[in-house]
Amino acid sequence: MAKVMQCWDDGVVNDIRLIELLRKYNAKATFNLNPGLHNDERLEARWGEPGYSGWSCKGYISGKIGKHELVEIYNGFNVASHCWRHETAGIAPDDQFIKAAIDARKFLEDLFQRPCPGFAWPCGSYTEKLADALQTEGFTYGRTTENSLHVGKGTHPLILHPSCHFQHYDFYEKYEKAKCDNEIFYFWGHSYEMLDSEGMWNQLEMKLKFLHDDPDAVWYNLDEINWLELSQEQPIHATTQR
Ligand SMILES: [Zn+2]
Repeated sequence: MAKVMQCWDDGVVNDIRLIELLRKYNAKATFNLNPGLHNDERLEARWGEPGYSGWSCKGYISGKIGKHELVEIYNGFNVASHCWRHETAGIAPDDQFIKAAIDARKFLEDLFQRPCPGFAWPCGSYTEKLADALQTEGFTYGRTTENSLHVGKGTHPLILHPSCHFQHYDFYEKYEKAKCDNEIFYFWGHSYEMLDSEGMWNQLEMKLKFLHDDPDAVWYNLDEINWLELSQEQPIHATTQR
């Protein structure tokens, strides 16, 4: 059996299409949000016009969900802090970074009326010092963007390495390994990475269907795991990370 979990970052417009798929396959998920980057109204996703020089993913501008629709769109899913405006550890001064992590959490807890003890490191950047500080502030885990074959074991809960990105070439093999060892299979990504490409959306749907159809895959929310307790355990098999 594998405990399967997933999370998606940045609160972008493609999350709406993603959530339809998640509901279709009864999949649990956490969305890591930056409340300070949402306008009141939705900013639609679009392909950059000639001359556009701002941020994009391969020319696709992800857009942002409107602040007023956050609760409706993410209803039934978990949300977690991804800093107020995507502040990055090691770039923002430490005190500002910690404040940004806490401010996002408080905003989400007020808005969704539920505890939001999770965290995802913007850009995957972290430091041990900030991990300790966030743990002291009551965060229970902090997801990085590095890969682990033994999610949560033997590592600081605030430096939690997931299994892999959702488009990792070894997605299925990593899942099978986690299942063999009765461990966690945890993938992450940004829904904008699928652009408006039907091929990429179909590929994700096949993964969700595969997990849905496997009776040994059991979906968990991240806050259903005692990460501190798990961090005390050592992996049974010492295998190298990829
Ligand atoms: Zn992000």
